[in-house]
Amino acid sequence: MEVALNIESAVTSRYSEAAQAREADLCCAVAYDPQYFDVIPAEILVNSFNLASVAGLMCRSTLNIGWRGEVYDCDFNQMLNLQWRNGKPLFLWDTKPEDVQNRPILTGDHCFGCTAGAGSSCGGAILPA
Ligand code: SF4
Repeated sequence: MEVALNIESAVTSRYSEAAQAREADLCCAVAYDPQYFDVIPAEILVNSFNLASVAGLMCRSTLNIGWRGEVYDCDFNQMLNLQWRNGKPLFLWDTKPEDVQNRPILTGDHCFGCTAGAGSSCGGAILPA
C-alpha cells in the first residue's frame, strides 16, 4: 500500500518540533574523527586550486552574521571563529558599509576547499557541471 506524503506538512512539523526543543539529528556535525582525513594527501586540495572559482566565492559578495551580531566573511570562517577584528571582536553595529567594500578577507587552509575544482559551497560553483 502506498501512502502519500505531504512533504511541506512533514517538513513544517519536523522543524516546528525542533524549534521547541533541540534535536541533535537536525544539527550539522560539529565533531569528526580526524583519522578519516589521514588517508587524503594534504596536497589534493592545494593542487586542485582553480583561479576561476575566486570571483564567485561567497566571501567576495556576502557576509555571515552570527546570532549575536558577530561579523564573519563566510560560514566557514564562522565555524572556525574567525570573527572580524579591529583590536577587538567586531559586531554588525561596529561596521559601516564602507568597511565591507574592498575589505581584507580572513583566509586559511580551509579556503582551498572553496577554490578547488569548480568551487564549493553556495557561491563557489561557477562552472557548469
Ligand atoms: S572559506 Fe575562505 S575562500 Fe571560502 S568563502 Fe570563506 S573566506 Fe572565502
